[in-house]
Amino acid sequence: MDRISWDQYFMAQSHLLALRSTCTRLMVGATIVRDKRMIAGGYNGSISGGKHCIDDGCYLIDDHCARTVHAEINAILQCAKFGVPTEGAEIYVTHFPCLNCCKSLIQAGIKKVIYAKEYKNHPFALEMFEQSGVEVEQVELEEMILDVNSKEKLTFAANLLNKLEENGVESTEVEKLKDQANKLFTATP
Ligand SMILES: [Zn+2]
Ligand SMILES: [Zn+2]
Repeated sequence: MDRISWDQYFMAQSHLLALRSTCTRLMVGATIVRDKRMIAGGYNGSISGGKHCIDDGCYLIDDHCARTVHAEINAILQCAKFGVPTEGAEIYVTHFPCLNCCKSLIQAGIKKVIYAKEYKNHPFALEMFEQSGVEVEQVELEEMILDVNSKEKLTFAANLLNKLEENGVESTEVEKLKDQANKLFTATP
């Protein structure tokens, strides 16, 4: 069995956190890491005890949801709340951070931002990261790593499709199923 890399491990953690998001507009997760240890995590959601977008709808101001605290900020604030230094840490985020989060990450002393998906990447964000010596890297999550039986499932589906073909199912029909299987096994949400 292949051992997963640190990058994939922490990025998977951020994707897991994103599933806890309460804003329907975008589900984001963030994990702050220091010395290969997770020191905090966050997802975008309402203030503690507040109403959730998924229950009451987003609170839109200028087409932005004002209700939510962003995942990156929540992760930093978790450190603030419990007195954990963020100086020199790295952050793994599911999406490229917005300008406000970029500024906060820089001020919190985060030295590297690792993001999975492009998201309105603002040139000013890259400019600020460069000015403050923050390293930026894109690392996409290999979704298959979260599914430990993925190879077996893939082989099973392929065998099943071959059997269908051998047993005289119309080839256009089999091709359609093969397409579907390919999408299921390779698609990223
Ligand atoms: Zn919202
Ligand atoms: Zn943000």
